Amino acid sequence: MSERTETDSRRLLRRLRDTLAERGAGQERLDRITHLIADSMGCEVCSIYLFRDDETLELCATEGLKAESVHQTRLRLGEGLVGRVAREARPINTGDAPSVRGFRYMPETGEEIYSSFLGVPIQRVGERMGVLVVQSREAGEYSEDEVYALEVVAMVLAEMAELGAFIGEGEAMAAPHKHAVMFRGGTGQEGAAEGHVWLHEPRVVVTNPVADDPKAELERLQEAVGELRLSVDDLLSHSTGDMEQTKVLEAYRMFANSRGWMKRMEEDIGRGLSAEAAVEKEQSLTRARLGQVPDPYLRERLHDLDDLSNRLLRILTGQGRETGAEMPEDPVLVARNIGPGELLDYGRKLKGVVLEEGAVGSHAAVVARSLAIPLVIHAGRITSEALNGDPILVDGDQGVVHLRPEETVASAFRDKIAMQAKAQERYAGLRDQPAVDRAGTEIKLHMNAGLMADLPSLAGSGAEGVGLFRTELQFLIRSNVPKRSELAAIYGRVMDAAQGKRVVFRTLDIGSDKVLPYMKATEEPNPAMGWRALRVGLDKPGVMKMQAQALIRAANGRPLTVMFPFVAQFEEFVEARELFLAQVERERQMGHVLPEKVEIGAMLETPSLAFAPQQFFELADFVSIGGNDLKQFFFAADRENERVRRRYDALNCSYLRFIDLIVGRCAETGTPLSFCGEDAGRPVEAICLAAMGLRMLSMRPASIGPVKHLIRRVDLGELRQVIDEAGASGCQTVRPAVMDWLATGVGGQA
Ligand code: PEP
Ligand code: MG
Repeated sequence: MSERTETDSRRLLRRLRDTLAERGAGQERLDRITHLIADSMGCEVCSIYLFRDDETLELCATEGLKAESVHQTRLRLGEGLVGRVAREARPINTGDAPSVRGFRYMPETGEEIYSSFLGVPIQRVGERMGVLVVQSREAGEYSEDEVYALEVVAMVLAEMAELGAFIGEGEAMAAPHKHAVMFRGGTGQEGAAEGHVWLHEPRVVVTNPVADDPKAELERLQEAVGELRLSVDDLLSHSTGDMEQTKVLEAYRMFANSRGWMKRMEEDIGRGLSAEAAVEKEQSLTRARLGQVPDPYLRERLHDLDDLSNRLLRILTGQGRETGAEMPEDPVLVARNIGPGELLDYGRKLKGVVLEEGAVGSHAAVVARSLAIPLVIHAGRITSEALNGDPILVDGDQGVVHLRPEETVASAFRDKIAMQAKAQERYAGLRDQPAVDRAGTEIKLHMNAGLMADLPSLAGSGAEGVGLFRTELQFLIRSNVPKRSELAAIYGRVMDAAQGKRVVFRTLDIGSDKVLPYMKATEEPNPAMGWRALRVGLDKPGVMKMQAQALIRAANGRPLTVMFPFVAQFEEFVEARELFLAQVERERQMGHVLPEKVEIGAMLETPSLAFAPQQFFELADFVSIGGNDLKQFFFAADRENERVRRRYDALNCSYLRFIDLIVGRCAETGTPLSFCGEDAGRPVEAICLAAMGLRMLSMRPASIGPVKHLIRRVDLGELRQVIDEAGASGCQTVRPAVMDWLATGVGGQA
């Protein structure tokens, strides 16, 4: 880059900054800016398009196109060259625009006379804001230098927009972080909450994108990068020595030392950006690439780079936790993603959690569920939009978030919360009543748990026991494998808290989506069907043996109940059972007190086990259907994949027939059968499962009240008839018939 272009670029940025510092409404400023850019770059046209909504770009200011087209010309995302720049988040530079595929001529603008076109995205750390375009009559591509210069200008515009420079009387764009925004995501945990935003990682605001003294900025950047490298080295020296963790940190260090990254930022500074604006410009590019890279490994590395940029920005701006922001009294945590340990650290004080990423089965979701905190996942770009302290409503039932809601929305939402509270009161009144249907059939309702924090719910919910204790959570929230003595103490406390009620401990269920931070991650083409759960336990029995010993010691003479996850064939159950009983024998030889009795069951999570030999059903002390997994394998529909996971109804006739088959097989041998997947906690699904013959359901504690309430209102025998008739009629799902039956009051509902 020549000295001259550097100086030109700096001069333009300074003029931009001065323009923005002048008084004036947003529209006036935009007009002056387009004039300034066109003049400085020697182009006939300069236009600014801004997003009106997620899908629509509007021409908001122009120098050179017809003035009457401003605020009239609109394009959809992906439409024409401008729409393509926005969608692909990268520049388009062409010497002959009309001949480019996708070109769309907009007659009202009078642009037909301009051949060359250069459009660059206006974006701020991955947040799309608009497109900046220059055009000229003369055919010919713009030089690399010109593209770069325009990108730098677009970066400054994005920062200015973020600071609210274009709002005002003209309302060229809506005020950032001021208006109401709704995010439609997915349900991670049901429930409704109202509160104020608490950002897990507060956003950094760059207030000085343009700098006068590149030398001083370079020094600031170098100093900050030096500090960053030291902090990464420090992380490495304090790492646990675990190979995987070290590998990740080393990759991190490699980025921190990357010449390419530094060089680009130095060039940005040469063009007139401040050090922090240069970091942010490169971060925006990384984020844009993140959205387009399908390879998980590369994405992970880009995430590292993104994290490093955040750290660097904090060092440069001094912004972060130390700014002393106070956590609101009713915090709703907003984050891109969060680990289970971090979420537990926040604990029950959170009113709700909203994540941009996350998955239904992620560890964070499991923790949110056990803490009964409403959780919405996949909430768009909420971390770019929300500010600490913003009012927020979280609707975990619908997977919807209202940020800075209008009063009408907020008051309707409060009504909903009040209604839910009322219903909870009603359910609390049923706490000590049995779940008996109108004909006197009793269904035992148990709860699912996984953390000590769950145990108080045992008394509060009226559950008769813990039908599924997910032991992997104790492993997931730590950074090292827990010790046997630690586990024995935890399991012992769980049994103490249960006060003699039955607790079914499920042995470690890891792999698939549940990856331990300290476990060597194996790249598997299809982890849900890969090396997981009992398969890991049998191939590497060390941890399973240790866990068995901890459970036996924790029981300390009390009855002990365990079950194995993901048993796909009889032999696996036999092997696991023998392994467990061998530990009982070992403990006996070592002189430990043995459990009064040991019950050993299997989870039925793969269709194959339903067809196991009769000997399996005879040997198993009980069987528990893990409906979450069973359903995904029955329909071959990934439970984590939002695209397909809702496609198949749990009340699908084929699935209910399959449940019926399992009930029949267990009945032949008198093997107790329960159901512990999420469907057990959904009232309509729960009564249908009960009608199919399940006599024990295990669910999250908050579901016990609603499920019991509905069971007590219906006649399960009648419901069975409704299900059978609907099934015989050839329908795909019995849901409409069941809902009809409930609605007409036949089911006992008003
Ligand atoms: C299930 O698969 O239904 C189950 C209860 O286990 P998890 O959700 O932990 O896989
Ligand atoms: Mg499972």
